[in-house]
Amino acid sequence: MPRYDYRCRACGSTFELNRPMAEAGDPAVCPSGHDDTVKLLSTIAVTGKASGAPAARPAGGGCCGGGCCGG
Ligand SMILES: [Zn+2]
Repeated sequence: MPRYDYRCRACGSTFELNRPMAEAGDPAVCPSGHDDTVKLLSTIAVTGKASGAPAARPAGGGCCGGGCCGG
């Protein structure tokens, strides 16, 4: 059974529920009893982003930043 993460907007706590996929969109009640909750997107391996910094950006010197290119 899939597990879904929810966040309570009343108290701000997050909690998980195991429920059938057919009930994934049903309102969930937080452990404190609030029903003002939202379902969070499942976190699927979003950690550890590789080093992908844009390298070798051409040193513009300031021409296209100062306005000389725009006339
Ligand atoms: Zn709550």
